[in-house]
Amino acid sequence: MNPTKIDTSNYRDHLSNVTQAGKRIWIYPRIVAGQFYKLRTYFSWVLLGLLLGLPWVEIDGHPIFLFNVLERKFIFFGVTFFPQDFHLVAIGLLTFIVFIILFTVIFGRVWCGWTCPQTIFMEMLFRKIEILIEGDHNAQRRLDAQPWTTEKIWKKSLKHVIFVIISFVIANVFLAYIIGKKELLAIIFDNPLNHLVGLLAILIFTGIFYFVFARFRELVCIVVCPYGRLQGVMLDKKSIVVAYDFIRGEIRGKHQTPTEKEIAKSNNQPVHGSCIDCKICVQVCPTGIDIRNGTQLECIGCTACIDACDEVMDKIQEPRGLIRYASMEGIEQKKKLKFSGRIASYSLVLVALLGILGYLLFTRSMVETTILRAPGLTYQQNTDGTVSNLYNVQVLNKSYEKMPVSFRLKNAEGTIKMIGKSLTLQSGEVDESSFFVILPNRAMKDNTIKIEIEVLSEGKVIDVVKTKFLGPMR
Ligand code: SF4
Ligand code: SF4
Repeated sequence: MNPTKIDTSNYRDHLSNVTQAGKRIWIYPRIVAGQFYKLRTYFSWVLLGLLLGLPWVEIDGHPIFLFNVLERKFIFFGVTFFPQDFHLVAIGLLTFIVFIILFTVIFGRVWCGWTCPQTIFMEMLFRKIEILIEGDHNAQRRLDAQPWTTEKIWKKSLKHVIFVIISFVIANVFLAYIIGKKELLAIIFDNPLNHLVGLLAILIFTGIFYFVFARFRELVCIVVCPYGRLQGVMLDKKSIVVAYDFIRGEIRGKHQTPTEKEIAKSNNQPVHGSCIDCKICVQVCPTGIDIRNGTQLECIGCTACIDACDEVMDKIQEPRGLIRYASMEGIEQKKKLKFSGRIASYSLVLVALLGILGYLLFTRSMVETTILRAPGLTYQQNTDGTVSNLYNVQVLNKSYEKMPVSFRLKNAEGTIKMIGKSLTLQSGEVDESSFFVILPNRAMKDNTIKIEIEVLSEGKVIDVVKTKFLGPMR
């Protein structure tokens, strides 16, 4: 094999965990140890703590995060967003997606390997429990192959009972992010008959999580996850990925003393590369691929093969890093990562989106006010030399506090006269009323003029609404 080329003969034609006949090949990843695994373990503790703990954290009695799609109420870092703030949520999501793309362009699938909840739960929780109960990859394989003995029944039952319990806990936490901890606790401690829908949701989520982590596993990353499917268009030769240094590794093979014939054929160059073809990097891979074939859709960047190969290199006394974080260009040309035009443009878009998001959040009003002229009416000419327009007003209180609301004309001589009820809104409440805007005739420079109405609460201007005012033809 040419050492500057990797073998691409047939690995892209099939999935690593499916037979030619379409049958699933169960993957038994070999236990891995090493510096990256250690780091990922510590990092996963922090992430698991945050993921499981955040629904229970409150600011001023309100959750710090809530994604209540049912009631269309969202809380990010303690700030409530209503459907009227959809543009902010959309920009926030867009910023998040661009951020992930930018990160992927530069660092490959760092997200998948280090922070994705699927990987964290699978590799750092469920897999560890499985190893604890059933033993290493060889023991698991033997156990699955053997008949249903008492030992097998006992081990499998214990494992699956623990899996169901953890799935139940995850389902509860997941639901807490959607409906909030108060509602969740009510479902848990109240009369079950009062919360049949909630209980059903918990059971369904438990079933889904159990299925995903006990059976479906790596198929989530390979078959379902849209992010994984997009790798092909996001990665380029400059992206930093978990990569096999084929220049150094090939020609792979057992390190034996070369024959005279081999030495002569190789023009006194080393007959073998650093890869001893032990396949331990394949055995540790949770998606069952051979990273030596190059970057693949199935690779979740979990770094297990880096740790495994480093251990092998230590044993054969070769430098570590035959498999490492590197770019294809870096490996081929021994080049360092450059700030490419694509990275620059993605960064610019990200900065611009962050700027817009920050501005919108910073200037976000605590009320959402809609002021519309009463339908079917134009204007009223009053006997005291004034002209008036009737408006309907709708106000949403987006704060956590009870809020009395009043209105005032901005930069215009005239008055506002409430004819509907005065508005005092509870947190999250929407209410309506009506008022007249009354302007002196001399203010009408045209038959339609623009006016601005200030919305006040306890003397403070909290919103300004622009609208039109109609008057007689001049
Ligand atoms: S672990 Fe390293 S030496 Fe062994 S097959 Fe993989 S790349 Fe080659
Ligand atoms: S190839 Fe390496 S980094 Fe990619 S999923 Fe397999 S073990 Fe993890």
